[in-house]
Amino acid sequence: MRIWYESFEALRSDRPLELGDVMEYIKRILWDGGVSETIPVDDEGRVVGNYEIYEALRRLGVERAPVSRGEPVKIYVPLEALGFYDEVQGSALKVFDSTIELLYRNWPTPLFKLRSLSRKGYRVWAKWEAYNPFSWSVKDRIGWYMFVDAMRRGKLSKILYEATSTNTGMALAAMAAAYGVKAKLYLPSAIQKASDVLLRVMGADVVRMPKPLTVDFIDDVDREARNVGATHLNQFENDRNFEVHLRYTAKELDLQLRSAGIIPNAIIGGIGTSGHMSAISLYFKSRYRGAVKIYGAQPAPGDTIPGIRRVETGMKWIHMVEFDGIIDVPRDEAIEAAVRIARSEGILIGLSSGAVTRAFEKLVEEGALEEGDYILVYPDNGLKYVEQFTEYLKKKGEL
Ligand code: PLP
Repeated sequence: MRIWYESFEALRSDRPLELGDVMEYIKRILWDGGVSETIPVDDEGRVVGNYEIYEALRRLGVERAPVSRGEPVKIYVPLEALGFYDEVQGSALKVFDSTIELLYRNWPTPLFKLRSLSRKGYRVWAKWEAYNPFSWSVKDRIGWYMFVDAMRRGKLSKILYEATSTNTGMALAAMAAAYGVKAKLYLPSAIQKASDVLLRVMGADVVRMPKPLTVDFIDDVDREARNVGATHLNQFENDRNFEVHLRYTAKELDLQLRSAGIIPNAIIGGIGTSGHMSAISLYFKSRYRGAVKIYGAQPAPGDTIPGIRRVETGMKWIHMVEFDGIIDVPRDEAIEAAVRIARSEGILIGLSSGAVTRAFEKLVEEGALEEGDYILVYPDNGLKYVEQFTEYLKKKGEL
């Protein structure tokens, strides 16, 4: 039977499948490093079998797929042959057609060695998500993907409601501005005052809620959005959050590591919705066949660190994947680590990045890490946290 590559864009499936239906297929494809069967299609490019493989490939992002007429055929095709890495190659000269392209065509975000932490057999690398244009954070990725998905499905109304600790809000305010809709954002009480200013400058309406965590009022936001017919993309439940990190964040990190000849021992990151670290876990545990450990950083009991929170406060994707450890980081230690990185590396990282740094140091201190390469995912930069840095410097008598 004839087998050929069809452009993925040209294929269509009438059978809708959820992320949960195809999770095992995604794992299998990453583990195998390719697909082991064709997708059967009819004359119009409609998928007529292997729907799960089609949907898994759609979520992983490929340029083309191996297809056959009517019946599936067993044949191994590696991911590289499907153009799997094409969409994360970046644009060398960085000329873009819009601010939206400045986001998704400018990936990958940089990966660089932290010399101050790379001692005694450890090479430590940071992937810095501050290189995103709207919120200078990892949350631009989900703001874009959730928004574009809702738009494509005709589910986008003229106003967006969202509970956010700032970064998702800035990303959605940017998307709303670019597409001429309105964003109304609900912020928790424990977040810096600068957020109201930044979000209002970006054209959003801002509501401060009298509760310390975003998860405390998601239901209120959902109810209000339904009452007024607004779109609630809901970063805490929307699987596009997980999927964008699987398709881009994890994949581009994989490509960067391959190009640099690095097999990481572990990847360490912060957890808020758990979107980016859960996707990175699923991806790396499958693609590197269990060789990569995954650690999450959460605030110590009773502490708040903007952007991250404790696992027991409730999050979706972390329970679908495997983590090798969750490390408690006190707020003061997160701030101190961010200051230390600023003073040793010259980069101003955010507080959750400080927590990730501290989590790595704690693992080293406990003797939990073997010599080798470690990746720290830094979610944002320190510019939003002047209030917290002010408080820290005053306490130290440096201001
Ligand atoms: N760090 C910062 C600064 C954030 O804004 C967020 C999310 O809001 C996170 C970490 C956590 O990311 P995720 O929601 O993917 O778990």
